[in-house]
Amino acid sequence: MNKRDYYEVLGVSKNATDDEIKSAFRKLAKKYHPDISKEPDAEAKFKEVQEAYAVLSDATKRKQYDQFGHAAFDNNGAGGGGFSGFDFSGFDVDLDDILGNMFGGGFGFSGGARRKNTRSRGDDVLYHMTLTFEEAAFGASKDVKIDTSISCPDCDGKGGHDESTCDVCHGSGTITTEQRTILGSFLSKTTCTNCGGTGKTFKRRCTTCNGRGSIKKNRTITVHVPSGIDNGMRLRVSGKGEAGRNGGPAGDLYLEFSVQEHSFFKRDGDDIYLNVPITITDAVLGCKKDIRTLESVVTLNVKPGTNTNDKQRIKGKGIKNESTGKCGDMYIIFEVVLPDKLSREQKNLFEKLSETNLENTTYSKFTKFVNKK
Ligand SMILES: [Zn+2]
Ligand SMILES: [Zn+2]
Repeated sequence: MNKRDYYEVLGVSKNATDDEIKSAFRKLAKKYHPDISKEPDAEAKFKEVQEAYAVLSDATKRKQYDQFGHAAFDNNGAGGGGFSGFDFSGFDVDLDDILGNMFGGGFGFSGGARRKNTRSRGDDVLYHMTLTFEEAAFGASKDVKIDTSISCPDCDGKGGHDESTCDVCHGSGTITTEQRTILGSFLSKTTCTNCGGTGKTFKRRCTTCNGRGSIKKNRTITVHVPSGIDNGMRLRVSGKGEAGRNGGPAGDLYLEFSVQEHSFFKRDGDDIYLNVPITITDAVLGCKKDIRTLESVVTLNVKPGTNTNDKQRIKGKGIKNESTGKCGDMYIIFEVVLPDKLSREQKNLFEKLSETNLENTTYSKFTKFVNKK
C-alpha cells in the first residue's frame, strides 16, 4: 500500500511551523472525527491525520521522517534492518481539547484512539553509533549513554501507592451525563476527572515521579554489537527505549551504525580486500610475501609473472558474521610498483636487461599495429 506523504496529509509545506502543523491537524481532526463526520471513510482518514500529526508534531520523529521517509517507522523497511514502527496507537490526542468547544464541554469519544491514561508502550529511541573497522569486523561490547524516561522504580510506573477503585466513576473511567441541545438531548461521556480515566485512585501520590509514573534518567547501557555490522545497519535492543505510559512496556532502543574506513583493508559485505604492492623483480620471478589478514600474518606464494590487478583468494579469512553465521573470504589484489629511484648499479642492470628480448604476445601485436602500412 502506498502511504501518503505526511505533509500532504496535513496539507502543509515541508517547512511548516509547529503552529501551522497544529492548526492544520485541528481542522482535519474535526472534519474526519468518526463520531461527527459524514465522510464515508472518515475513520481511515482520521487515523491517517492522527498518524501524520504524531510524527510531524514531534521534533525528533519529524527529523527522522524528513531523512528516511516512511521507512523510518516501517516494519517492512528496505535493507533488512527495518525499523520497527513507533506505536501510533498510543499517541495522545487530547480530543476534549480539540473538540471540546463544539459541545461546550467534554466529548464522548468512542473511536479507535486511546485515552491519555491507558496503558501504552513507550516510544522507540534511535541512537547513532560509529564503529571502527575492527569493531565492526570482530564485534564489540559498547556503552551507550542515553537520556530517556524509565518506569519509576518506587511505584512500578503506576504513579502512586495504595491503589483503590475510583469512587466517582466506580472504576469505569468515564462519567455519562445527559446534555440538552436544540437538536434534542443526548448522552455525553466525559473522562472522570477524579481518576483521569484510569478508574483507579491512589491513597498516596508517588513523590519520586510526582505521579507521572516515569522519571528521566541518564543511563549507560552496555550493548553487544555482533561481528559483521556494516554501514547503515540497525540493531534493536528490546525494551531499552522510553518508559511505557501507566505501566505499559518500554519502547525499544535502535542503534544505527556507521563504520570507519581502514587504511589498508577494504570491505565488501563480509569479504575483505587487501592491495599488496610487489616489486618488479618479485612480479617477474615470483616470491614469498608476508601479508596481514584480519587475525594474523600469513605468507603468500606470489607466482612468477604476477601482474598488477591479479587476484588471489584466501578462503574463510574474511569477516565471521555473527548474525548470519557465514564467513567471508579475503582477496589479495597485487600491484606491481616501480622503484622510486635507481642506484647506478641497478640502472646498469636494467640497461643490460633492456638489450634482451622482453616482449610478449601483447607487446608484439601492438608493435605490428603501429608499423602497419
Ligand atoms: Zn474515576
Ligand atoms: Zn513513582
